[in-house]
Amino acid sequence: MQFMKFDNFQYQRPVMKSFEEQYNAYLKDFESATTFEEKDELFDKNNALRQKYSTMYNICHVRHTINTKDKFFEEENNFFDDNNPAVEALTNRFYGLLLSSRFRIDLEKKWGNQLFVIAELSLKTFKPTILEDLKEENKLTSKYIKIKASAEIIFNGEKYTLPTLSPLEISKNRQTRKEASTAKWAFYSKHAKTVEAIFDKQVKLRHNIAKKLAYDNFIQLGYARMIRSDYNAEMVANFRKQVKEFIVPIATELYKKQKKRIGIDNLKFYDEDFRFASGNPKPKGTPDWIVENAGKMYKELSNETGTFFEFMRHNNLMDLVNKEGKATGGYCTYIPDYKSPYIFSNFNGTSGDIDVLTHEAGHAFQVYSSRDIGLSEYNWPTYEACEIHSMSMEFFTWPWMELFFKEDTNKYKFAHLSGAILFLPYGVAVDEFQHFVYENPEASAEDRNQAWLAIEKIYLPHRDNDGNEFLENGGFWQRQSHIFTTPFYYIDYALAQICAFQFWKKDRQNHASAWADYIRLCKAGGSKSFLELVDLANLKSPFEDGCVESIIGDIKTWLDSVDDSSF
Ligand SMILES: [Zn+2]
Repeated sequence: MQFMKFDNFQYQRPVMKSFEEQYNAYLKDFESATTFEEKDELFDKNNALRQKYSTMYNICHVRHTINTKDKFFEEENNFFDDNNPAVEALTNRFYGLLLSSRFRIDLEKKWGNQLFVIAELSLKTFKPTILEDLKEENKLTSKYIKIKASAEIIFNGEKYTLPTLSPLEISKNRQTRKEASTAKWAFYSKHAKTVEAIFDKQVKLRHNIAKKLAYDNFIQLGYARMIRSDYNAEMVANFRKQVKEFIVPIATELYKKQKKRIGIDNLKFYDEDFRFASGNPKPKGTPDWIVENAGKMYKELSNETGTFFEFMRHNNLMDLVNKEGKATGGYCTYIPDYKSPYIFSNFNGTSGDIDVLTHEAGHAFQVYSSRDIGLSEYNWPTYEACEIHSMSMEFFTWPWMELFFKEDTNKYKFAHLSGAILFLPYGVAVDEFQHFVYENPEASAEDRNQAWLAIEKIYLPHRDNDGNEFLENGGFWQRQSHIFTTPFYYIDYALAQICAFQFWKKDRQNHASAWADYIRLCKAGGSKSFLELVDLANLKSPFEDGCVESIIGDIKTWLDSVDDSSF
């Protein structure tokens, strides 16, 4: 089974009637089972049933995104959209039985405590009385997504969407950058009243859902939805404080260097993403050449990654190149019954193509490494932990970047490391903003924009909005879709980045021990909570004073050692 090519993976739509009957029968038997052995066997059967459903869902998802014009998988995709909530409801019932089970201690001994943590938090985020509210929440989210997806921006007589406009926003011609960026913000300004109204409804709705579930406000519920079991809002605030103290000054310095590099006196909002006068570093070859070199890289990095990447290639578990009909973006998913990760992307000739083969491959390597645990809940850890695998792999593969970037290797590394630093202040700003929003559900749209502006001044003090009315009034946050779609999911990237920086530092000091820590982390999959995984990998918790400080000196030294004036 394990060594099958993706092309031969069998897809069959789950028959919901028999799936539900089977599921209910297992639940009933599980409840009445009188011995641990019986319970354990039913537990396994239930897990196998859920993994099979997930297998079909993921095969469908991959085939649908590879060719969105394929009518068959479009239909199948709709089937899962319609039926996934019912499966979630069944899983919640399973969680309820698990938590009150007579042999809970024995089950915990076998599967670990994390399953029970997940079960408990999942149950705390749902009650049948909020079903209509959840539907409403989804509708509001879809409205926001639709506004952005249907954007038609007329620029220099041509029609653009938000993604097609973005290359012009980093044009070498400053006037083009300014006009393209201004056109984008004019779009957001035009829709501001609608977007603010959608968000206002979302905030009030989420606050009410939290109240119905006996929370004080949405913050704790937001954390529970993300299965954050071992940290709270105060700890996250302490992390943001460290970013403000240690990262913001370096980011400000990096923007100063950028000004020099691109030859301007004042860095305006439309200059921020234009980082190099000669453009961003690009891989020097075709997609096939890139994959070939990635194979060499992973073989040399370690036995584990060599075998893994060969498995991915041999079994056609990657669809990398942009083609007609493919969905946008990139992702890594997992197909449990075939124990196979899958990587999807749209190569476009930028350094992002290499990121796919380091970042997404990092995700894939984790799920491949932990594939034998075999429990649905443990396929992946929570998001902040997931991104440690991917962001750290980006650094572990640094010694092979010459293969892809040749004479531009140092420029790539500088862009990568400094880009990661520049992201952190923005990442925590988005997080602080969301805490303000849900602590103050009655705040007006005006209050929210003012709050953003104040936060921007703390974390992004370099920012020059250049008299742009929408930005000067605090509207920037309205472009950040996570705020609307997945509240509180954003700090995860910042937390993981600090952990990945620790691996960057350790790898330079002692590769063998850093790599051993990383492998241990990947093998654990989702069987532990975030801080337990951090501990397992011998990393410092990002919430603890001194953590951010502990990596920043080495990073600054590295960045200062590079002569960026030639980039
Ligand atoms: Zn990722």
